[in-house]
Amino acid sequence: MTKFRAYAALQAKEKFQLWEYEPDSLKDSDIEIRVTHNGLCHTDIHMRDNDWGISKFPLVAGHEVVGVVTEVGEAVTTLKKGDRVGVGWICNSCRVCYHCLQGEENICKKGYTGLIVGNYGGFANRMRASADFAYKIPDSLDSASAAPLLCAGITVYTPLRTYIKYPGMKVGIVGIGGLGHLAIKFARAMGAEVIVLSSSIDKEAEAKSFGAHHFYKWGTAEEMKNLTGSIDLLISTSSAELDWDLALSLLGNNGVLCFLGIPVSSINVPLIPLIFGQKSVVGSVVGGRRFMQEMLNFAAINQIKPKIEIMPLNQINEAIDKVLANQARYRIVLVSEER
Ligand code: NAP
Ligand code: ZN
Repeated sequence: MTKFRAYAALQAKEKFQLWEYEPDSLKDSDIEIRVTHNGLCHTDIHMRDNDWGISKFPLVAGHEVVGVVTEVGEAVTTLKKGDRVGVGWICNSCRVCYHCLQGEENICKKGYTGLIVGNYGGFANRMRASADFAYKIPDSLDSASAAPLLCAGITVYTPLRTYIKYPGMKVGIVGIGGLGHLAIKFARAMGAEVIVLSSSIDKEAEAKSFGAHHFYKWGTAEEMKNLTGSIDLLISTSSAELDWDLALSLLGNNGVLCFLGIPVSSINVPLIPLIFGQKSVVGSVVGGRRFMQEMLNFAAINQIKPKIEIMPLNQINEAIDKVLANQARYRIVLVSEER
């Protein structure tokens, strides 16, 4: 059996280093992929640092994976050798609970299986995954552009698709990184009025080129006062703690504050404005197979692609430093050396 060559963190907060492992024999329902591209999601960094207490080491991260199918298990009928596929954060679920039956595997009652939570992910030359959670990449999307759609894309698509109710709805996006910049593009394509709230003023021109109608520096209540009570859907992708009372104050009646970023905290929610303005505070986690397929089709037809920086996989640690310094514009895609 040939070993897979991966980049692993051997312990929490350690840098990724070359590490080899021998995969289990290929399951009937699995495929093997020669990995070509990985988007670098901030979650890979949270997982490396064990910020959520769920990481297992050695950790092979990478959950925006695109590659070419090299082996198929005996029971696989949907994919064949040579197919170009992507795999995201979710790699399995019970498939029979109420939510799975509706294509909401992301909230599977038994809990979905996370690709990099106890399994080995995409920062490697090869990877194995269930064929049912591998998606064919549409021909009109190149592999480097497709990779970030597998996590960042589906994560922003799901709440936008769920909560945008009418054309011209005011959608605020907090944090313009990998998730946030794709949220601008999807929200614009869905007909929303897009309001960007960013801590980085140098992102204004690009945010507008992605489709934002308005750009505000995330600031104080005084600086943002003309936004108070105006936003219908406010999506936070910030990986850092912000003033959430201020975020709530921006919501209009019936407004929804949706958390995607996980800055490792809980928040205090003032009940009076929530009740009398019928506001909601919600979270959303990646997306199920139904929206994943829909999102890929929507991205292909509307040519929604991330703005990426390409780096070789062996520069994974430098790439992480860049993301942590908020210097990535706007998603780093790591290209595997073995092509
Ligand atoms: P990212 O590319 O690093 O972007 C995060 C953005 O947060 C930055 O670009 C920055 O935008 C903003 N930010 C505000 N304060 C910051 C600070 N002190 N340091 C760094 N950034 C700061 O991250 P991402 O990959 O988009 O992921 C964002 C968050 O979503 C992470 O917490 C990640 O774990 C989470 N996530 C959740 C899901 C889900 O299913 N819910 C899925 C994927 C990722 P500005 O410069 O515009 O302020
Ligand atoms: Zn992710």
